[in-house]
Amino acid sequence: MTAPRPNKHDPATLSFDTQAVHAGNEIEAGSGPIRTPIVMANSYALPEDASTISWSGTDVPLYTRNSGTNQQGLQAKLAALEHGEDAVVLASGVAALHAVFFTVLKSGDHVVVGDVTYEAIYRLFAELLPEKYNITATFVDAADPEAVRAAIRPETALVHVEVIGNPTTKVTDIAAIASLTKEAGVLLSVDSTFTPPPLFRPLEHGADLVVHSLTKYINGHGDAMGGAVIGSRELIRRIKADAMVDVGGVISPFNAWLIMRGSVTLPLRLRQHQATAQRVADFLAGDDRIAFVAYPGLAEHPQHAVAARQFAGRGFGAMLAFAVNGDAATQDRFVSHLRVITSAVSLGHDESLIVHVAGGADAGPRVAFYPEEFRTLGHLRFSIGLEDADDILADLKAALDATFDAS
Ligand SMILES: *Cc1c(COP(=O)(O)O)cnc(C)c1O
Repeated sequence: MTAPRPNKHDPATLSFDTQAVHAGNEIEAGSGPIRTPIVMANSYALPEDASTISWSGTDVPLYTRNSGTNQQGLQAKLAALEHGEDAVVLASGVAALHAVFFTVLKSGDHVVVGDVTYEAIYRLFAELLPEKYNITATFVDAADPEAVRAAIRPETALVHVEVIGNPTTKVTDIAAIASLTKEAGVLLSVDSTFTPPPLFRPLEHGADLVVHSLTKYINGHGDAMGGAVIGSRELIRRIKADAMVDVGGVISPFNAWLIMRGSVTLPLRLRQHQATAQRVADFLAGDDRIAFVAYPGLAEHPQHAVAARQFAGRGFGAMLAFAVNGDAATQDRFVSHLRVITSAVSLGHDESLIVHVAGGADAGPRVAFYPEEFRTLGHLRFSIGLEDADDILADLKAALDATFDAS
């Protein structure tokens, strides 16, 4: 048996790539494995004198719905990577978003929500929270800070936006929104799933809470699901107490371990994803069989200037939306000709994923907020993977040739 060997480094002095390897990974007592093992236990031994234990506490492993070895390591790592004081990890991105809303909102509150957000968030604010809890929401164009300011009311408790919106790639200027939420005394939560660190850190631009679907880039391998919220010690303490311990959407130790392992290569993967994304966007923008392409790294993107300033040379993410010329059936035909790029939902995986989201009469109500071309044609949401960029480009080109030669 060896004694525990705590990490000797001071995380604050290390670069992002080094922290992605080391943060949250402690050498354990016992036989001293250099990677934190998967601890598949739902309960932990109590101290001999249990009188000092806080049964609802979340700092010491006690019961896996409060805390556990693998959650704690992942939380420490995500807090370090996002430059936050603390983090909570939960079973999915949606569980993490719900945990924020459940904790900070009460009946009668009003929320200002970006008009391009993840589908489940649209439904939570458009239907479920108003019906069940009398929490109302106004959807606004978050790319226009004045529209956000105008929507804030005395009963507004929260503004919620996405840095790059899923699916249209609308970009929000987080510093501009944060300065007006601070002025109004309102909390700002930011879904940064499309812009993981080191690309962007919303907390450094004034956000109160940052949320990630860990299922996407941070895990990066398309196997585990998870979600995280990062922020001040006090806000995270409240989310753990109210939404983790008492609502219970905890992550499994195995999934936390997988995400911990996947996140080691986050900076390397992001560099590759983004380099390929820019090449693919340039190719699509230059092909006249493409009806439109939305990518913040293209000069013609409506928020390109904001994105360039905000991301300060660290990239523009790796999510694209586009459509080929033609109707919905043509989009489907194009997808059916792809041989390398997989037709599936989700994003941020090692493999390139594409999904055809219908416009027109088949589209749901939130599509009313999308740009004209998204509403009429629908779109192909495209998550650039880690395959060789030349193979991805060749696959797109061959599918375009097959689609348009056949018609
Ligand atoms: C996928 C996604 C979510 C939801 O995450 P899950 O892990 O699927 O629950 C939330 N926000 C954005 C922007 C996403 O892309």
